[in-house]
Amino acid sequence: MDLLSRIDAWGQSSPEKVAYRSEGAELTWGRLVRESNALAGAIAKADIALDSPIVVRGHKQPELIIGYLGCAKAGHAYVPVDAGVPEARVERIIAAAGAQLVLTPEKIRELVVVADDAPSRRGDASSPHYVMFTSGSTGEPKGVVITRGCLEAFLDWTLREQQFTVGGEIFLNQVIYSFDVSVMDTWSSLVTGGTVVSLTAGDVADFRRLFDVLASSDITTWVSTPALAQLCLGDRRFGADMLPRLRRFLFCGDVLTPEVATQLIDRFPSSDVWNTYGPTEATVATTSVRVTRDMLSRYPQLPIGVAMPGTSVLVEDERGNAVPSGSRGEIVIVGPNVSPGYLGRPDLTSRVFSVRNGVRAYRTGDWGSEQDGLLFFHGRMDNQVKIAGHRIELGDIEVHLASLASVRAAAVVVANKNDRPDSLHAFVVLADGPAINEREAGAALRRELTALLPAYMLPRKFHFLERFPLTSNGKTDRKALTAMLTA
Ligand code: AMP
Repeated sequence: MDLLSRIDAWGQSSPEKVAYRSEGAELTWGRLVRESNALAGAIAKADIALDSPIVVRGHKQPELIIGYLGCAKAGHAYVPVDAGVPEARVERIIAAAGAQLVLTPEKIRELVVVADDAPSRRGDASSPHYVMFTSGSTGEPKGVVITRGCLEAFLDWTLREQQFTVGGEIFLNQVIYSFDVSVMDTWSSLVTGGTVVSLTAGDVADFRRLFDVLASSDITTWVSTPALAQLCLGDRRFGADMLPRLRRFLFCGDVLTPEVATQLIDRFPSSDVWNTYGPTEATVATTSVRVTRDMLSRYPQLPIGVAMPGTSVLVEDERGNAVPSGSRGEIVIVGPNVSPGYLGRPDLTSRVFSVRNGVRAYRTGDWGSEQDGLLFFHGRMDNQVKIAGHRIELGDIEVHLASLASVRAAAVVVANKNDRPDSLHAFVVLADGPAINEREAGAALRRELTALLPAYMLPRKFHFLERFPLTSNGKTDRKALTAMLTA
């Protein structure tokens, strides 16, 4: 049975069961399937080009799930955009995607009232299923195209590896839907007839509310970036008594530290802790490993695991030759889960994607090494960073800062805490000379940037200089700027 038919079957067999719950709103399986069919019917009538993706914009409302499924049933890729993304950036995404339709929860509610039948154009393995926009180094968000075949390759693997209880799993969703770690919880749940308990930004921002939601969630599978678990571990109540049915933690998207893994193993003796790794360009995750106490005592940092079957994860030097075991090189992924490329950007695509022996390959820009048959991650080769799981190109922030009238030059660096990237710091040369009141100047820049960038990309602090320190070949000396943070 194909992916969409498998999902539909749950609507028939368990119509009253809850498929999705967030901030008190619930969506049953029956409504999900019925309304996604109706939405697909409405989309088919809307007379938009079949190859044009549809933007689905909102923050964790149940209608978004109807939207994603409705797009897929109508043969369109969906572009998830969180409600927290400022208007100006949404406009750029709409233009880059060539989207002719934008669905919001309100619009979806409007469209599903007419009970249309879903059209029969559901697409195949080569059809784009979703397009996720990530931060681009030039300031333009870039859209990663993920086909139905990519998604199926990922789901087949994770379902086989995790042996989710069919019809009985409750998944925690933390990340926003424009971050592909959400695919791990939501599409795994959709295909296995589970329930998603989704946290809103408001839930995560308020500790008491977060713990109330968790304690009443009954979750069996936790999916998040390591940052959320680290936050929760700060409270002693976070343990097996609070989540008695929890069987596994699935982490992805950022470094899982030995400290966090050890505490989780101690506090949740009946739950497995998994570290999974992969870029959006290779569909959510490509490698995985169950963290054991033995592993924690053997290695100073945790491995990111072994490749999913059918996909090769290589470590190569700059000429594309495999490096010896234990040496560092670039992680390259070759497999059916690799994206065909960036939407409408053959220039960017050809820089990092290729085809090897008929199989798609992606150069990740991640430093890695192999030891004892396990892969290890050693940071980025470029200026991409992860702050609390969010993927950010420093260049993306710099371009927007430099575009402000009051700014002559801008550079953004990262401050570390406990050896991990922690916060963004902007260094600015103002067009009209030194700032008289640096606090006010910083607040003014922050206000302007808020209209251009999502909140997680806003620098924590602005520092003003008369000129930037330069390296011997005349480039901005980022190391010297970073050193100023600790001076
Ligand atoms: P994204 O496309 O947002 O999923 O970010 C992908 C990047 O996050 C990778 O290229 C890595 O740099 C980093 N990453 C993802 N998973 C892990 C992990 N388990 N450990 C360390 N870094 C990770």
